Amino acid sequence: MKKTVLFKNIRMILTLSGVRKKGGRHVTEEDLGIIQNAALVAEDGIISWIGPRKSLPKTYLKIKKIIDLKKQTLLPGFVECHTHTVFSGSRAEEFELRNQGVSYQEIAARGGGILSTMKNTRESSARELQNLSQARVNRFLRQGVTTLEMKTGYALDFEHELKCLKVMKTLGPIRIVPTYLGAHALPPEFKSTQGYLDFILKKVLPEIKKKKLAKRVDIFIEKSFFDATLAKKYLSTVKDLGFDIVIHADQLSLSGGADVATELQALSADHLIQIQDSEIKKLAKSKTTCVLLPAADLYMDCAYPPARKLLEAGARVALATDFNPGSSPTQDLNLVGLLARIKMKMTLPEVIAAYTFNAACALGLENEIGSLEVGKSADFMGIKGNWQELFYSIGVSQASSVYFSGQQISE
Ligand SMILES: [Zn+2]
Repeated sequence: MKKTVLFKNIRMILTLSGVRKKGGRHVTEEDLGIIQNAALVAEDGIISWIGPRKSLPKTYLKIKKIIDLKKQTLLPGFVECHTHTVFSGSRAEEFELRNQGVSYQEIAARGGGILSTMKNTRESSARELQNLSQARVNRFLRQGVTTLEMKTGYALDFEHELKCLKVMKTLGPIRIVPTYLGAHALPPEFKSTQGYLDFILKKVLPEIKKKKLAKRVDIFIEKSFFDATLAKKYLSTVKDLGFDIVIHADQLSLSGGADVATELQALSADHLIQIQDSEIKKLAKSKTTCVLLPAADLYMDCAYPPARKLLEAGARVALATDFNPGSSPTQDLNLVGLLARIKMKMTLPEVIAAYTFNAACALGLENEIGSLEVGKSADFMGIKGNWQELFYSIGVSQASSVYFSGQQISE
């Protein structure tokens, strides 16, 4: 028998149905799809009815399990679509050095940078990584995150990258979306990027596929990391193996990442700080979601991506924390939304869409999550104040209750 739950006494629901209809492009306040004095019915964790309370069909009045949401406003659970949550060690000392003017090259020479996280992550046991990562997942879910993407890329070898993917499988109780980012940096065991990418294609990806550890593959296209020509060849093969692809693109220099993303129909192109009008045009016409990561731009003290140009050209824009120990050691979604509003001049409805439906598109999950509609997962959060207070204060979360698949997971 199906487990049916009626959620009642809802002040309003932001369904995001209009955002879904427009494919996450040219979002306005009307597209938030607000229903006043609403009710919602979930059967086995899937929404089977949603609408104004007074229109609730009589058959649903017999439901025994009723949850009183006490006049909260509901919106879809947040989708955090770009993080590096599984890692070990801190780079706080390096942050202090950087702020005192020590160059990245010098920090790397002193054993800092990505290779220091690599060393710590390789040395940590699966259990240690699991404990560290679960605490981070809890911090996200308390803010209303019900779907969380996380990338590998801090072990850069066979054994420990797989260890990280296996750790991701143990995390919950929200939806975890693992991404393999072996091509994050060149590990010390390899002399050439070509040799390393060949190793990934021959040895690592077949194993990930066999064990069903990830469906997505990411790469860092950047000067002195992986160049666009090599990346394009690599990603084409990755696609042929049946993986979805995503790209760290044009963060520090215009290095061709966005072009590779649109040509190969990547699910997302992330960062996009250095893109010019020609890339903006191509991205706007493509199916690729533009994932902007302004907290990283704040920490790197660099320029912000051209969000308004992207939005006005009709691109689909998502936002995420890029949570990682080096360039974005924060899990605060409000900080990201606030930077998007102040520094990138995104409107509040654009920010809300960017953290729900559009982020779901970046993960290829737009048919399951990202808006509150019949047939979608009952993943939502309740807030006590007005929705206009979202992404306004930093340091405090507006979420007063969080439900995943119809079950309460945080209050
Ligand atoms: Zn990243």
